[in-house]
Order: sequence, then C-alpha cells, then structure tokens
Amino acid sequence: MAARAAARRDPEPEPVSPRGKKRILCVGLVCLDIITVVPAYPAEDTDTRCVSQRWQRGGNASNSCTVLALLGAPCAFMGSLAPGHAGDFIAADFQRRGVDVTHVAWQPHGDVPCACCVVSAASGSRTIMLYDTNLPDVTARDFERVDLSQYKWIHWEVFISKDLARHFGYRSAPEALQGLRDRVQPGATLICAWAEEGADAVGPDGELVHSDAFPPETLVDTLGAGDTFNAAVIFALSAGRSLQDALTFGCQIAGRKCGIQGFDGIV
Ligand code: ADP
Repeated sequence: MAARAAARRDPEPEPVSPRGKKRILCVGLVCLDIITVVPAYPAEDTDTRCVSQRWQRGGNASNSCTVLALLGAPCAFMGSLAPGHAGDFIAADFQRRGVDVTHVAWQPHGDVPCACCVVSAASGSRTIMLYDTNLPDVTARDFERVDLSQYKWIHWEVFISKDLARHFGYRSAPEALQGLRDRVQPGATLICAWAEEGADAVGPDGELVHSDAFPPETLVDTLGAGDTFNAAVIFALSAGRSLQDALTFGCQIAGRKCGIQGFDGIV
C-alpha cells in the first residue's frame, strides 16, 4: 500500500540547484501547438468567439525542455524537424529558451507534426488533436552520434502518464504502479502522475511514495502539465533529491503551470 506522505502545503517550492555542468537530454516529440482558448468547451457544430489564440512550441520532450530551461538546468532536445515555417518557428523558440538543438534530426522529407489544442477557460481542460504526420523519427544511428559523457540524464519514457495508464485499464496511479511493476526491470523507478490526485511512485527498493497535487487558485491551462511534472521531477532527481522530494517538487511546479497560460511564470 502506498505510504501516503502528507504533501507540504508550502506554496514556495524548496529551491533545488542543478548539480554540475552536465546536461539533461530529452528525446521525443516536438510539434507546433496551435492553441485556442475558449470561454467554455464548445458544442459540436456551433460558431464560437475565442478568448485568445497562439502558436506554441509543443510536444512532450520539447515542453519538458522548456520547463528544464526555466528551472535553470542546461538541457538539450533530440527529435525530428523539417524545414519550413513551422520548423523555423520551433527552432527559434528553442533558441530563445536556450535549449541545445545540436541533436535535432532535420529530415529532408515530411512535415512537422501539428496539434490543434482547445483550452477551456472555464475548467482549464485541454483537448488535443494531434496530426502525427509522415515525419521520420530519430534513429539509433542518430543516437550513436550523441556524446553520452556530456549528459547526466537522458529522458525517453520512464514515467507513466494517466492517459497511458487508463488505456491499460488502470483507474488510479497506485493501481497502475502495482500493475506495471512486474513488467519493468527490477530496480527501476516508476512514476505516475494523475492530475488533481497528484502523483505516486515506486522506488528501486519497492518503496511507495505519494504527493498530493498543489492546485492553483484558478485552473487556467493544463496543457503540458504532465510534461512540466516530468521535467521538475527529473530536475530534482538529477540534483540528488529523494524520490519523495522530487515528486512533491514535480506536483508543486505542475500546479503552478496549471494556474497560468503557457510556461512563463512557473518559477
Ligand atoms: P497530463 O495529462 O498532462 O499528462 P496530468 O493531468 O496527470 O498530466 O497532470 C500532471 C501533474 O500536473 C499532476 O501530477 C498534478 O501535479 C498537476 N495537475 C494536473 N491537473 C491538475 C489539477 N486539475 N489540479 C492540480 N494539479 C494538477
């Protein structure tokens, strides 16, 4: 049974300082997010005025890099892009955030994936429609070119998202951890976030930890909450913090993100 440690209700996350000069590499998706903020989620076949619209660099690994950069951690992104308007916009935004893009695989063919996202101002919910285009993914050969000695942490998929857990039929984070534990290597750490329920994890020695969520005063925008949580947990773990501390820090930073549009203002 999960040892449910009481989450601290301190609104100020304890500062975690990045250790050493080595970077964190996030491997995965970058896409263009076209975000429409609506007063409330519209009914089908209606004509709605929206509150605002914006382009944002999105994708799980890409968002986590944004958050790591905001937390002050040197980081790099590895994934595929294609030349063109969307690729240029994304590359410029990585640069603006100080994310290293040396390992971006620029593909000669294919289009940058695009996600049309509807954020409801009434609930903060995000509805994502991703067009996963024909862009080839990075390959083992691309990865062979990475000088591993420069990195203290490489993020692929370790974390279990609520959506994936639900897809497997689990109804809570502890249930998902319990069910998936035997399917990963002994000694692995499994972490599962679950929106307003916070997050749970099982450590290498089987220790179960939990953090409550830290809900913002008003739920504004939950797009990228999971990516923010992942980044903050990686940031804390790579700085030598305990699993419990990392989970709590992840929920605190993700909670802040849910209270603002986009990512500026999480720290
Ligand atoms: P995603 O669906 O983006 O993968 P989740 O919805 O599971 O991610 O949320 C990740 C983390 O963000 C949660 O562990 C929690 O800390 C925070 N979070 C998400 N939604 C809320 C919410 N409604 N209230 C408070 N915190 C939230």
